[in-house]
Amino acid sequence: MNKKKEYHILSLSGGKDSTALAFFMRENMPEIFEKLELVFCDTEHEIPETYEYLNKIELFLNKPITRLKPKRSFEDILATTNFLPSHKHRWCTGLLKNNSLNNYVKMLRFMHNYTIIKLYLGIRNDEIFRISAAGQNPYLIEIFPFVENNIYKNDVENILKNAGIGISDYYKWRKRSGCYFCFYQSCMDWLRLYENHPDLYKRAMEYEYNDCKEIKSGRMGFNMDYSLRDMIKPENIKIIKENYQKSQENKHNKNLSTTLFNSF
Ligand code: SF4
Repeated sequence: MNKKKEYHILSLSGGKDSTALAFFMRENMPEIFEKLELVFCDTEHEIPETYEYLNKIELFLNKPITRLKPKRSFEDILATTNFLPSHKHRWCTGLLKNNSLNNYVKMLRFMHNYTIIKLYLGIRNDEIFRISAAGQNPYLIEIFPFVENNIYKNDVENILKNAGIGISDYYKWRKRSGCYFCFYQSCMDWLRLYENHPDLYKRAMEYEYNDCKEIKSGRMGFNMDYSLRDMIKPENIKIIKENYQKSQENKHNKNLSTTLFNSF
């Protein structure tokens, strides 16, 4: 009888959860960890701290990370489509990330005859709602060890702390991994990018103005409120920072009221 050939992949994002999953599997699923391949889908536009953190993960786990690159670069796609990725036209994730993984999995199946490929994902037990959004790949069986083992946000932080690796340096100024020009960023995130990596901010600005003809005809760029060129004008920086401060105060007051309400 033909024995089914299994392969195991963990998809790293450079964020806390997927990194913690790698360490969790090393401790709790050693037989799988031994044959597990760590994979990172590189858009080629990640923030530098992510690339540094990936190197650190390799060292701490003593395991290489396979870095998958997109078939067509961001610049190449932009030159053809002429519009930037946005909330309405999120072409980036599919073309720069998901396709790389799909092609890699197809290669594993057809070139190396793996019949079962398991993909381990770092979705936590407190975000089960994300599971339905996963599960899009017909070539993969997705596994959620954190859900199966009741792992929550605090547990993830403890796993990283106990492993000695801690979290990526980008958490000092940004909440998520991903492209430095991600359109999901708030204005404040953009300003932090400008403060921490002015060169990358400038490159994003160039994509808006030099590489995208639509912008020249007045269309919005990465951000819904400001063009990147306008965003860093002193008067706009002032408005963005004041609005951010106000939103933080509101959040703080709301949390305080909830705590007081719950204490009665
Ligand atoms: S991080 Fe943002 S810009 Fe990059 S692929 Fe994901 S959604 Fe697109």
